Amino acid sequence: MVRNDRKEPLWALHPPSRQVAESLRMTVIILLLLLDFALTTALSWLNLAYLKRRVSSPMPPEWAALLDTSRFPQMVAYREAHTWLAQGARTAEPAATLGILLSGLLPALARWAAALPAARVVQGLAVLAALGAISYLVSLPWGLLSDFGVERKFGFSTITWKTWLSDQVKSLFLVLVLGVPLAGVLLFLIERMGETWWLPAWGFVTLFQLLVAYIAPTVIFPLFNKFEPLQDEALKEDIFALARKAGFPLGGVFQINASLRSTHANAYFTGFGKNRRIALFDTLLEQLSHHQILAVLAHEIGHWKKRHVLKGMAEGVLLSGLGLAVVAWALAQPWLYTVVGMGDLYRAVGPVGPVAAVGLYVFGIVASPLGLLLAPIANGVSRRREYEADAFSLELYDHPTALEEGLIRLTEKNLSNLFPHPLAVIFYHSHPPLLQRVEAIRRRVAARGRG
Ligand SMILES: [Zn+2]
Repeated sequence: MVRNDRKEPLWALHPPSRQVAESLRMTVIILLLLLDFALTTALSWLNLAYLKRRVSSPMPPEWAALLDTSRFPQMVAYREAHTWLAQGARTAEPAATLGILLSGLLPALARWAAALPAARVVQGLAVLAALGAISYLVSLPWGLLSDFGVERKFGFSTITWKTWLSDQVKSLFLVLVLGVPLAGVLLFLIERMGETWWLPAWGFVTLFQLLVAYIAPTVIFPLFNKFEPLQDEALKEDIFALARKAGFPLGGVFQINASLRSTHANAYFTGFGKNRRIALFDTLLEQLSHHQILAVLAHEIGHWKKRHVLKGMAEGVLLSGLGLAVVAWALAQPWLYTVVGMGDLYRAVGPVGPVAAVGLYVFGIVASPLGLLLAPIANGVSRRREYEADAFSLELYDHPTALEEGLIRLTEKNLSNLFPHPLAVIFYHSHPPLLQRVEAIRRRVAARGRG
């Protein structure tokens, strides 16, 4: 046997081909990043071009009567400003990722953390904190340009620097009390449990999410907004009557001072059991009529009645299990570490602590284009549920035009895109385009009128 006569270790036999394999892998990662960039860029400008074409071409008279066409130029300008802003972020983020991958920062960071006089879990948290800080700084300017630039220019943003800064501090606080312990437990399980760590991690992540969802309405959301009982007593009575009619266990109706940050309007349900409550943005109360608010809330109750909320939670649990199993498989692959030039540390320490932290980061980069492929499925399911909730709203709140009027009013006030490109709908829209939604509502109302 020739092999026994060799003095050097086996892995040194073909160093050039190893290097070729690593640079090939890095090339594949870079191509994935570029492909993701090219596809999302093409989609977003296609979407803008489509909108411009649709608003300047003649419209069926029934739509022309329905929509406030004088708002169209502003809607296009708003979409164009946001398309430029998104392009900036979409360019800066992969550029930063490429810099991090190619500069040798990752192995340097892992080596620095591995030398810290601390447990492996803490070393791993240090790596994640450093990478998290970089990603925060890269996305920061685009958030600022949106809040204090575009959103302000179009009369939406009302946020002050003081509110913005206090939001940042509170978010950091939440990362420290929720994110750090979660990441710490995951790194601990990775270190102690070997390749089956994802199973206990799945159980832990599920319990953690339930806990956060349970405390969010009473502990987390009030950090950012003032919750007050709804002042409009007549509306409150009608909302409770609507909930009783649907058998919906409603704990309370609140209004929140969303106008502190922006004039965009919304409403949501939170909490479980007796904690279940409705939060109405003060901006929604201002923009919609009594009837329209009730129709919109009946739509939200429809999501509960049609079990969308429960199904969404079950799907989330299944997907997080699947995701963790894939992550566990990936973290056990040596190429995840050798590709960024830290094969030596991987062999010395194993896929734990700071090495695992870098592995998670690299896996995130490889996996993110896959998200673009999965989005059409998730969005398709969500759009179907929106139609179901609309249908339920029409049954629960018997008013022929309140729902469509409410939806049109909200879309126009928010300058939302009335004419998204069909491909953009497939990839990005969790809600059907307004006109298709109104058409479906009218078909149902007409069918009921006949029947
Ligand atoms: Zn909905």
